[in-house]
Amino acid sequence: MIDATTTKEAVLLARLQSLRWKAGLRCPRCGHRDCSLHACGKDGRRKLRCSGCGRTFNDLTGTPLARTHLPLTLWAKAARLLASSHQTCSSLSVKLEVKLATAWRVRKILTEALKDEDLRQTLVTEDIP
Ligand SMILES: [Zn+2]
Repeated sequence: MIDATTTKEAVLLARLQSLRWKAGLRCPRCGHRDCSLHACGKDGRRKLRCSGCGRTFNDLTGTPLARTHLPLTLWAKAARLLASSHQTCSSLSVKLEVKLATAWRVRKILTEALKDEDLRQTLVTEDIP
């Protein structure tokens, strides 16, 4: 059986990958194009290794969402809420079912993240409930 949440996560991830790497995969640190799959996490997120500088990165490296570990579905829900109306941290925390401190961080990070056109297009979408 396919878990609906997992599917949405995969759809968001695929959308982010196609927007972010539309000009081809490229190391966010050195710009090298020769990158290979290094590992794949159980959340479906891949880890890539650059053969230029030898460092690893993922699809969110270099964006405000890097190192956040929250599912993209949660970011998308928060982004849509923030795009539709002003949200206080406490209302966000109730709607996202996260702690107040998490809601505060989500709002702060998203304010930056939504300035990025690729992230905005990934997260603020109509077709994913
Ligand atoms: Zn590199």
